[in-house]
Amino acid sequence: MSRPKRSILPLMSIPAPHDSIFGQLEAFGHKKVVYCSDPDTGLRAIIAIHDTTLGPALGGTRMWAYKTEQDALHDVLRLSKSMTYKAAIAGLNLGGGKAVIIGDSRKDKTEALLRKFGRFIKNLNGEFITAEDVGTNPRDMEYIRMETQHVMGVPESIGGSGDPSPIAALGVFMGIKASVKEFYGNDSLTGRTIIVQGIGHVGENLVRLLRDENAKVYASDINEDAVAHVVKKYGAEAVSNNTIFEIDADIYAPCALGATINTQTIGKLKCNIIAGSANNQLEDEQVHGKMLLDKGILFAPDYVINAGGIINCYSELMGFSKKRTMQLTENIYEATRNVLKLSKAENISTIEAANKIAEKRIADIKKVKSTY
Ligand code: NAD
Repeated sequence: MSRPKRSILPLMSIPAPHDSIFGQLEAFGHKKVVYCSDPDTGLRAIIAIHDTTLGPALGGTRMWAYKTEQDALHDVLRLSKSMTYKAAIAGLNLGGGKAVIIGDSRKDKTEALLRKFGRFIKNLNGEFITAEDVGTNPRDMEYIRMETQHVMGVPESIGGSGDPSPIAALGVFMGIKASVKEFYGNDSLTGRTIIVQGIGHVGENLVRLLRDENAKVYASDINEDAVAHVVKKYGAEAVSNNTIFEIDADIYAPCALGATINTQTIGKLKCNIIAGSANNQLEDEQVHGKMLLDKGILFAPDYVINAGGIINCYSELMGFSKKRTMQLTENIYEATRNVLKLSKAENISTIEAANKIAEKRIADIKKVKSTY
């Protein structure tokens, strides 16, 4: 049987979760996948290390009640691959990894489970470093820290960098400004209209930054209380989650879950720019990246503009400095501009342009490391 040629960072349609495990690993180009099982604590987790050319693989641990083990594997492979790209394009010396714990974070999370998970990370001897993600928080990282040093995003009270969400939101804000500059010729957000979908940790901070610059914000979330909060606190306007794709706004900022950009929603979208924090916003990179290009909608690739979270962790790893973290996060403006310029110059989708820049950096550094 001929095996697919291994490319570390292919631009492609994402393999389906029902593909064979090794088929998926080859298609995504992973270096290592570790299954963590501990019946005593109920731990069932998967750690995926995608690429470590630039440095140790850093990525959050997501706790989610996946319907099937295949879904969990597929998610961790997809997410860890985009961490490789994210670190590369942000100029960090980090590789890409991610972990998922299968379970309901509200019911199944215990100190013992997290500490056992920490021991699995410890056994990787620094090849993988984790942080929080959906379903985990700084307190959970503190439990993992009791077993291993290879965890970031621990509370400030014990020397960590704390919640990365405000920095993540700042990065997204910079990406939005760079996109507005490209589309409209100047980067002022005053009077621009923006739909923020998902008023969680990042979404709320983003609403604050946007309102500080007098943008008009439409806020949407399945949690009505979260929307009511930003309406009251920042003067956003509440909109129903069902109608957001029909709103005639300048920008759509997806800050909830991934894959909201698909054939159906692209057909409806009226905005000029898509720029938000959610990971893996395009259901299919190749197909939907191209559809957006053809429709003239500027898509700021998610992993380029939501790198603030990983930058925060990187700073913690290097010895946290608020000033340095802010500088690196503000660089997202330039990184986004570079992606948009390449997309325009080569008439390729913005995601393809971003992938090219990330791949080039990894390939260049790989050569450096292969010489004496
Ligand atoms: P969060 O869990 O705090 O907030 C997510 C919000 O989205 C919640 O309020 C939830 O009710 C809402 N939501 C869920 N499904 C929805 C739907 N179908 N429609 C509308 N709203 C919905 O998460 P967060 O930390 O704010 O992260 C948001 C996104 O940004 C995630 O995709 C995350 O992976 C990504 N991200 C977060 C960070 C970070 O530092 N927190 C960094 C990079 C990327």
